[in-house]
Amino acid sequence: MSEMLIKNGYVFDPISGIKGDKTDIAIKDGKIVEKVSSKAKIIDAAGKTVMAGGCEIHAHVAGPKVNAGRTMRPEDKLFRGSYRGGIVKQGKRMEMGFSIPSTWKTGYAYARMGYAFTNEAAMPPLLAPHVHEEFRDTPIIDQAAMPVFGNNWFCLEYLKNKEIENNAAYVAWLLKSTFGFGIKVVNPGGTEAWGWGENCVDIHDPVPYFDITPAEIIKGLIETNEYLGLPHSVHLHGNNLGNPGNYEHTIETLKLASGYKPKNKFGREQVLHNTHLQFFSYKGDSWGTFASAAKEVMDYVNKTDTLTVDLGCVTLDETTTMTADGPFEHHLNQLNHLKWSNVDVELETGSGVVPYVYDKDIAVCGIQWAIGLELALYAKDLMRVHITTDHPNAGPFTRYPRIIKWLMSKKAREATLDTMKRKEKIIKSTDLAGMDRELGLYDIAMMTRAGPAKALGLSNIYGSLKAGADANVAIYNLDATKLPTDPELIENAFSNTLYTIKEGVIVVQNGEIVAEPQKHTIWTKVSVPENAQVMRDIKEKFTKSYTVNLENYAVFDEHVHNPRAIEVEFSA
Ligand SMILES: [Zn+2]
Repeated sequence: MSEMLIKNGYVFDPISGIKGDKTDIAIKDGKIVEKVSSKAKIIDAAGKTVMAGGCEIHAHVAGPKVNAGRTMRPEDKLFRGSYRGGIVKQGKRMEMGFSIPSTWKTGYAYARMGYAFTNEAAMPPLLAPHVHEEFRDTPIIDQAAMPVFGNNWFCLEYLKNKEIENNAAYVAWLLKSTFGFGIKVVNPGGTEAWGWGENCVDIHDPVPYFDITPAEIIKGLIETNEYLGLPHSVHLHGNNLGNPGNYEHTIETLKLASGYKPKNKFGREQVLHNTHLQFFSYKGDSWGTFASAAKEVMDYVNKTDTLTVDLGCVTLDETTTMTADGPFEHHLNQLNHLKWSNVDVELETGSGVVPYVYDKDIAVCGIQWAIGLELALYAKDLMRVHITTDHPNAGPFTRYPRIIKWLMSKKAREATLDTMKRKEKIIKSTDLAGMDRELGLYDIAMMTRAGPAKALGLSNIYGSLKAGADANVAIYNLDATKLPTDPELIENAFSNTLYTIKEGVIVVQNGEIVAEPQKHTIWTKVSVPENAQVMRDIKEKFTKSYTVNLENYAVFDEHVHNPRAIEVEFSA
């Protein structure tokens, strides 16, 4: 038995409503408990900030497209002067890479920031074994992966025919076959259209051959998700990402979720999670008239309880974009003419990778930077608004501490704005300069752990310091009663914890990796009745159209590292 007591820290735990009170946190055998014996190891957190381990809702950190980025961009391993850039040895393994870090660095870097869990945002089902192999190689943090469904031929056919029950049986089968966590949708219909050199930029654009629209795909998948009662909601990257004037499409897309009610036993209250909202909050009819629509989009999100969003903040770095939105990456390549990779994944999805430089002296990049922050500052319920960079698309996840600094300090925002050559244009095209709001530590705890964990349906495990949760704790060198006047100290504190505790084991001490205990792969195991028709359909498509045999498709049990199943007992 191992016991630990974290004493006298200022605790911020939105799940139990603790707002910076001095509270002791007791740990026994890897779980948070009410109290421990006098033999417990004591950690003195007096004058420091204590939160649950961070919980990431959306990042691209493992699998074939991440690895394609690593292969395409050897230069990324050498960037110096950036957050622990270049090649360094810490912990047991070498760390390298900035926007597409090695698996080793991924685990260590999350742990140093006090994170316990991350969610790989787009797993191509056919290539799921690769995702799980990288999970095995990524130290310390627990991980889940969401298979992509929005362009999957099975779903397109079932949903066209309004066969929700069959679609649900297929979804349950695919989650099991890939050890996947939930339903991810990327440019619904558009990536399939890309196979024909086309795209769906409007939710009513028909998908070639399938005679279905993105709107019908999104609604059908929401129905399927709630029919099954999955822990997380549909997780959507919509159509028309990244284009000036797309905010009206975005609001129209969000409205598709109205009328649905969340049905699940996990405490999740939303029916749709819209990811990296920044890329969907644009006004203007060209790059010349490009401007922020953060207020319009957040006004809708604020009044709609059944939605959650994450930010996708631009961090003003050189990075590597990667997405299952194949046509978007082609579009981006036409804009910046850098390297481009494009892949079609048989009946399921596609993807592209393109490097990108968010140059602070280019007006569009500065406006994008402002929009990400505005979305957070306009938010009324920060439990429903989560900090992400859509890593690595808008910037690396290692910049979360910098985003936190910008959100907590107007002075820090102004300092960054002052370095921008197109400052006046950015002030004119966004509301950021006039926003005085500064978020506090409780707000940050909502946006980085409690909120994402709740939206994922995992708040009994992550993002919480309630008894029974996994003992994942981050202790930051911040005196909650007198925050530093120098905002750089906020960024420093969130970059390197004093302690990160993962399932009761100290893994980081003073910013250094000190242990690498077991980690878990989280997946969703849905028990549904055997569906003979769906199994016939699966066999037929594998014979006719896939390049692999059905027998070789499902991820083998031994491929999955330390699985921890979230069980869903389906009842019609
Ligand atoms: Zn993404």
